[in-house]
Amino acid sequence: QVSQALKSIARNEHIKSYIQQSNELYPLLLQAAQRFVTGENRQDGIVTAKELLSRGYFISLEYIGENTTDLEECRKVKDEFLNLIEEMGSLSMKQTVSLDLSHIGLSVDSETAYIHLLEVVKKAQLYGITLMIGMEESSKTNDILDIYKKTIEQYPNVGITIQAHLFRSNNDIKELIHYPGKIRLVKGAYQESSDIAMSRSNELNNHYLKLVKQLIDANHPVSIATHDEVLIQEMVHRQYLNHPNVEMEMLYGIRPDLIRDLKSKGYNCKIYLPYGKEWYLYLCHRIAEYPENLYSVLTDMINP
Ligand code: FAD
Repeated sequence: QVSQALKSIARNEHIKSYIQQSNELYPLLLQAAQRFVTGENRQDGIVTAKELLSRGYFISLEYIGENTTDLEECRKVKDEFLNLIEEMGSLSMKQTVSLDLSHIGLSVDSETAYIHLLEVVKKAQLYGITLMIGMEESSKTNDILDIYKKTIEQYPNVGITIQAHLFRSNNDIKELIHYPGKIRLVKGAYQESSDIAMSRSNELNNHYLKLVKQLIDANHPVSIATHDEVLIQEMVHRQYLNHPNVEMEMLYGIRPDLIRDLKSKGYNCKIYLPYGKEWYLYLCHRIAEYPENLYSVLTDMINP
């Protein structure tokens, strides 16, 4: 319930515009958000990416946002992704760019998202960059998978995120392993009905392990995207992370100690780096999924 309330606050346009117009609150919250977000501009993401690459991490950059309903705005977002890719290309950063299809057109219609995605993937291919598609609410899963499948048939440099909490993921993975794209496995960030999804539990962790095994047995490229230490230790114990096709991926600012430790043991480790003006929604999501973060956010605001 706390988490639902926080997500509603995050989407409330009145609160958002109040914060944006407040000369006192805005910089304080931005300061706090910088625990999880590299900054408001592309350059902030690039600078952090360079630093992490020099320390031996892989990176995945995302211009944050979702559910863009205005076509002109979708075009601008798509252009920002193209600019990001060009800039990464000019720096020979053959890394990953992540995006949500509802940020570039899915909330207008599927065709817009598909056309914009093709443009972005094509440019990414020029520079040896991989594009990772995020997974959104279950009402969008079929559309996102359809667009992914149509795209990967033409461009191999695209991957897809799958949510272990959905019961359907087992069958989705059975189908998706026949496509070459990397699969990023997450637990799932959206509240879903118990008819179609499981909540955080041992059952979910066992399902997660089963899906990872399915991917490893098929020698399929996989990104294990979780911060769950117990789950990760189990995968270390089962030697899942030793496979060259497997990488660990965590969100910037969450359990940096854990990913540092995994990297020091020689595993492939990637950090997801968000940037952009929509940091407020992203910050609320990170607090909603782990309300203890509220204390660190308040501390960061009091002691900037
Ligand atoms: P949990 O069981 O939620 O948490 C395990 C432990 O991790 C917690 O006890 C805590 O120690 C730590 N932790 C988890 N979250 C936080 C936090 N916010 N702050 C501080 N500590 C925390 N979800 C989607 O639905 N679609 C996507 O496309 C998507 N992409 C993602 C990409 C990456 C690279 C990652 C890492 C996650 C992504 N997620 C996505 C989010 C994911 O679904 C989970 O909501 C999120 O990772 C938290 O779940 P968890 O696996 O870490 O395990």
